[in-house]
Amino acid sequence: MTSQIYLDSYIDAGVLVSIELVNELATSHAYGRTVLAESPMTLLAQVLAVDPPSVVRLRRRNVSGFVHLAVRMRQVFDELHRGEIDGAAQLVNALLAEHPAHPYLAKEDGIWRLHHHPVDVSLLPMWVAICAEGLARMIGNGNANRLGVCDAFECERVFFDGSKNGTRRFCCTACQSRVKTAAFRLRRERRKS
Ligand SMILES: [Zn+2]
Repeated sequence: MTSQIYLDSYIDAGVLVSIELVNELATSHAYGRTVLAESPMTLLAQVLAVDPPSVVRLRRRNVSGFVHLAVRMRQVFDELHRGEIDGAAQLVNALLAEHPAHPYLAKEDGIWRLHHHPVDVSLLPMWVAICAEGLARMIGNGNANRLGVCDAFECERVFFDGSKNGTRRFCCTACQSRVKTAAFRLRRERRKS
């Protein structure tokens, strides 16, 4: 079974999976609560479900490498959140240097398709390259500001900001309304005192 991540679509998949890996494997607080410890293997299988052959190839020994990747990618988002694009670029460059992509043509059902890697490459190096290249393209295309970290109290979730003007601050509407409600209460308390 060959990977379904083709070269013409992996950019979106790379950004998508980067975000999900960070949120599932390198986040201790989400939506104002402490994240309950779940099996990283189960979470990882859910994230990699975007590419079913990857789930088939996933082994327990791969988990720690993916957790490490998620932690390093969180650092990229944190740097961007602080406006430190140079720092983020250096972190992404380090990932790219460790696991460069190897574009490769594979014939499937009589059709040649361009893949990110040869089909027999190990799972972790393939995903490091896909994720790092996805993030690198965002930074390289002037879209670094569209990779966000939630501004709400006790939420570290990261997100892609697809809004028209690129000013999204929260991972979801629940976090946005939580912050609005807290600000409203604070104003009301201040008026009382
Ligand atoms: Zn949030």
